[in-house]
Amino acid sequence: MLKRLLYIAIVLFLVFNCTVSIHAQDKITTVVIDAGHGGKDPGALGKHSKEKDIVLKVALKTGYYIEKYLKDVKVIYTRKTDRFVELKNRTKIANNNKADVFISIHCNASRSSSPYGAETYIMGLHKDKANLEVAMMENAAILLEDNAQDAYGGFNPNAPESYIELSLLKDENQDQSALLAYLVQEQFRKRVGRKDRGVNQAGFLVLWRATMPSILVELGFLSNPKEEQFLNSEEGQVYLASAIYRAFKEYKIAFEKENTTQEEIQKTTATQDNSRLNYRVQFYTNTVQIPLNDKRFKELDDVTSYFHNGLYKFTSGHYLKQSEAEQHLKEVRNKGFGDAFIVSFDGDKRIPLSEARKLEKSR
Ligand SMILES: [Zn+2]
Repeated sequence: MLKRLLYIAIVLFLVFNCTVSIHAQDKITTVVIDAGHGGKDPGALGKHSKEKDIVLKVALKTGYYIEKYLKDVKVIYTRKTDRFVELKNRTKIANNNKADVFISIHCNASRSSSPYGAETYIMGLHKDKANLEVAMMENAAILLEDNAQDAYGGFNPNAPESYIELSLLKDENQDQSALLAYLVQEQFRKRVGRKDRGVNQAGFLVLWRATMPSILVELGFLSNPKEEQFLNSEEGQVYLASAIYRAFKEYKIAFEKENTTQEEIQKTTATQDNSRLNYRVQFYTNTVQIPLNDKRFKELDDVTSYFHNGLYKFTSGHYLKQSEAEQHLKEVRNKGFGDAFIVSFDGDKRIPLSEARKLEKSR
């Protein structure tokens, strides 16, 4: 379903040429490339290779292409050698450097040797056991860290209920993460001929606290002999890395095009002031517009919709302060919209929450 929605979103984007939300910054200039595992953590094991070695090679190649062909982008790696890096520090590197995009690169494994293909994850609630198991496998890395219990708020990587709690924390970059993930999968499918296992969601600790659009790429299965061979080949690594590079480039172009247009619009209007700032509670999205008095919304007050990233998004309430919106968020969730979250606007233009908080403070 998510895949279908995303497909429609992309088609709408191509047709109407409007996508990617407005960001405080108008260019994508910093990307963090995260090679999974390393050092004492080998990651998934194939018959004759380890995940940590393959993902490092693909990560370095991806970064190399970005630096070579996109001169205005700074590439930061979480590791460039075979060393252990704690999951929380990977995210910290991205946040501290104010990265615009975070890409974590991994290989999959299954108990059976038959599954194969590539998939890309964004943060969210898993739709099935298979997706949950991928997150469990990746999150198990914290069992090798000191004081993990405290550092991750008591998160237990082996307990399914921990994942439901994690997924309740909605992040405002989810749309953008989904778009980037879709572009990566499209490249894998069309240009590298990989089996497309789609864009999926699950609770990955490495994506949890990232404050920018973030994805986790599973290049393929080390448990499948044929795929293990491909993942270890120079040719395979070059193809996979260039696919991620091209997806990143497409994402950057789309983002910057949208922002240039926004900039021009802003030039003709007054400079930004904080009088138009408002918060709303977003509770629903759809690929088509539906009436605001739809019976599904009847328990909610002040329902409005806006078009953003190729989707119609529905909100309830208008608030001048985030604290007021938070109160309303609780009510909306209690009315059965458990996935609801807060979004902020300058007038009717969606802006990042970080920008809204600054505007609110300057009042
Ligand atoms: Zn991994």
